[in-house]
Amino acid sequence: MIPFNKPYLTGKEAHYMYDAVHTGKLSGNGKYTKLCQQFFEDEYGFKKCLLTTSCTDALEMAAILANIEPGDEVIMPSYTFVSTSNAFVLRGAVIRFIDSKSDQPGLDEDAIEALINKNTKAIVPVHYAGVACDMEKIMNIASKHNLLVVEDAAQAIDSYYTFSDGSRKALGSIGHLAAFSFHETKNIISGEGGLLAVNDERFIKRSEIIWEKGTNRSAFFRGEVDKYGWVDIGSSFLPSETIAAFLWAQLENLEDIQDRRKQHWQMYYDGLKNWAEQYCVQLPNIPSFATNNAHMFYIVCKSMEQRSEIIQQLKDHDIHAVFHYLSLHKSPYYQKKHDGRDLLQSDRFSNNLLRLPLYYELTPQQISEIIKIITDVKG
Ligand SMILES: *Cc1c(COP(=O)(O)O)cnc(C)c1O
Repeated sequence: MIPFNKPYLTGKEAHYMYDAVHTGKLSGNGKYTKLCQQFFEDEYGFKKCLLTTSCTDALEMAAILANIEPGDEVIMPSYTFVSTSNAFVLRGAVIRFIDSKSDQPGLDEDAIEALINKNTKAIVPVHYAGVACDMEKIMNIASKHNLLVVEDAAQAIDSYYTFSDGSRKALGSIGHLAAFSFHETKNIISGEGGLLAVNDERFIKRSEIIWEKGTNRSAFFRGEVDKYGWVDIGSSFLPSETIAAFLWAQLENLEDIQDRRKQHWQMYYDGLKNWAEQYCVQLPNIPSFATNNAHMFYIVCKSMEQRSEIIQQLKDHDIHAVFHYLSLHKSPYYQKKHDGRDLLQSDRFSNNLLRLPLYYELTPQQISEIIKIITDVKG
């Protein structure tokens, strides 16, 4: 059996969790939380990092920080996970969904400006499969219209964007705010877990308060105030130390994990390239401004029938390949609220995209087997 995903353990997770348990500090914001946050700030240039219990939570914090109020509009792709939109809908936002590009499930940057009006507050690019949206274009539009940019970088750890002047920045360090996920299906995991990256200094102080249930407890612990109390809205967004300890073991092995995933990804790409060309199947496109963090290997079939056939062939060999999002503008919850525009590329990815197994412990033999089964599907 080859599952779609298998969470990878580096071997140190239980050790660090044991250590966290025995230091007696189990709630959040202890030694391991600080180690992880410092790592992200140093490695990727995020101004301020706060670990959260999920990327969903980090996005909810971002929506609070963005001061989203009922009736405000937020622009994001329709081809994304529900948490991207839920976070803003919870604050009363109207979502203006944007189509994907024909060669990229991420949002079509050229369609953004037509949707901007006086109610627009934020743009939420999603770096699908860890491949960057055109952040220079998005940041220019945002600054022209005075909008906030919240990167949904759930899948985008250790991936980069190159600006036209040649400078390079990590995804999640470019927008005003960014959210990452450490869910067990992502590259770096802690079971459930996430991170809010705050890059605009205006938000740093308030982000800590929202993180600490609306209190200024963090400032109190640093000795900056002599008592702490309720100063703003907030919630319980901190993960416990055991989760942070688990994450720390993963971060120590980040390079090894990334190298292995990239090898797997390249093997799929090389093995499927000729077949894909022959049968009109689209393979992932990495734009020249983007890097590949090998979060996902997907193919875009020419039809739903072709996709079903490939899923079935793999299933017959006990291999689990899965499709991905259903366009949010057509979801039972949002379709009546959607403004009626067709988003054809988003629908095409919903119908035709197929994700192949990709995890650390996959072997070259297994990848060869998967490639063989897929390339035996003719037509
Ligand atoms: C995984 C994912 C999320 C949610 O992450 P959680 O940590 O499970 O809350 C949000 N957005 C995108 C694009 C994702 O892939």
